[in-house]
Amino acid sequence: MTELPKLLLHADALLHARWVLPMHEVGKVLEHQIIAITNGCIVDMGPRVELLGRYMAGYEYFLDHHVVMPGFINAHGHSPMTLLRGYADDMPLRPWLEQKIWPAETRWLSESYVAAGTRLAVAEMLLSGTTTFTDMYFHSEVVGSVADECGIRAQLASPVFDFPTAWTGSADEGIAKAERLHDQYSGHPRIGVAFGPHAPYTVSDAPLRKIAMHSEELDIGIHMHLHENAQEISEGKQLYGLRPLRRLKQLDLLSPRLQCVHMTHLLDDEIQLLKDTGAHVIHCPASNLKLASGICRVADLQAHGVNVALGTNGSASNNALDMLAELRLAALLAKGSSNDASVVPAAQALAMATLNGARALGIDNKVGSIEPGKQADLIAIDLEHPRTQPVYDPCSTLTYSAAASQISHVWVDGQALVVNHQLTRMDLAQVLEEARRWGAGIAAGA
Ligand SMILES: [Zn+2]
Repeated sequence: MTELPKLLLHADALLHARWVLPMHEVGKVLEHQIIAITNGCIVDMGPRVELLGRYMAGYEYFLDHHVVMPGFINAHGHSPMTLLRGYADDMPLRPWLEQKIWPAETRWLSESYVAAGTRLAVAEMLLSGTTTFTDMYFHSEVVGSVADECGIRAQLASPVFDFPTAWTGSADEGIAKAERLHDQYSGHPRIGVAFGPHAPYTVSDAPLRKIAMHSEELDIGIHMHLHENAQEISEGKQLYGLRPLRRLKQLDLLSPRLQCVHMTHLLDDEIQLLKDTGAHVIHCPASNLKLASGICRVADLQAHGVNVALGTNGSASNNALDMLAELRLAALLAKGSSNDASVVPAAQALAMATLNGARALGIDNKVGSIEPGKQADLIAIDLEHPRTQPVYDPCSTLTYSAAASQISHVWVDGQALVVNHQLTRMDLAQVLEEARRWGAGIAAGA
């Protein structure tokens, strides 16, 4: 009797990876794996020797010198500010905003400005391994349509200010715009919407209460700059008699839907409050250092079980949207500021840039780790380079040695958006030309 031929399963793509960091267990490293992707989803993963011959695939990627891991989640930024990269540096936060950034935005802001800046940001983020980004900027609907067309995943934190801006006349209008945007993107596979009250010093109590109520009704996030520097905290105390986090507690904003961006100068009882309410912290170390804003007590937050994600902030205050650089800085800064070299170990820094970001954005059921059933938001990093050899522990190599330029492949929802370091859906030359044109105009008009 002849043996029946084995029936091959279909997969859209197979990734043959030298190493895999699945990230659902911090520090776990798997070797010689195959990941099978179908309809944008991870459908299978296992040792190469076991899975070889089980699948017939449309595409196969042989990543013999690569680590495959979940894509980075840049949990805080202002994408269109790429057009002001290097426009004003070496200034503290408030004069930097009030004398340089806000006047330039008043002069130049338009839908085409936002579209050009977002395209530049998305190109930079994809090429450096970011598969999801949060954006808080005017014309969120333009940022959303650029993200949609480029295939990246995004959370649009639609901004709310008390005072008139180039986009809204009042806080109520900002809230209404956020809700319309939420309706527009409801059911979208890659784009979500959150309320983006700008900061405690730009949004008063009544709209914050309204946001707290509506975010609960709609079950969407609240994304807010909070405790960015000592001035914000002391002014908050003068105006409201409370430090900003306590004020937000009184206004019912603290819950697992709240994404607190920055959180420098924290007191012990505030760390406990974050833990008790399940609010998330989004740490932006480069921006905090560059604007001399203060230091986020990441090691203490993590010791208390608070979820800490990572963001680059806008590229006017960083000045790069490079999550690998950001996670390295987060690891180094935590050690230096706590006098303890064992805090934020390499694998933990990688978790902050992936699964913790997914948790903060409420999308950890979809992305942030490599598990069958999750969406295939993945990156491959080529370690065949002098700065990343030899490899004892890929977590250490990635956190302390690797550069963004070693990221060779990026998939979002299983779509290959970067292959062999090249963008597949975006015309990079055109994106750069457009950015140069805006830069020349801003420089001439400054
Ligand atoms: Zn920011």
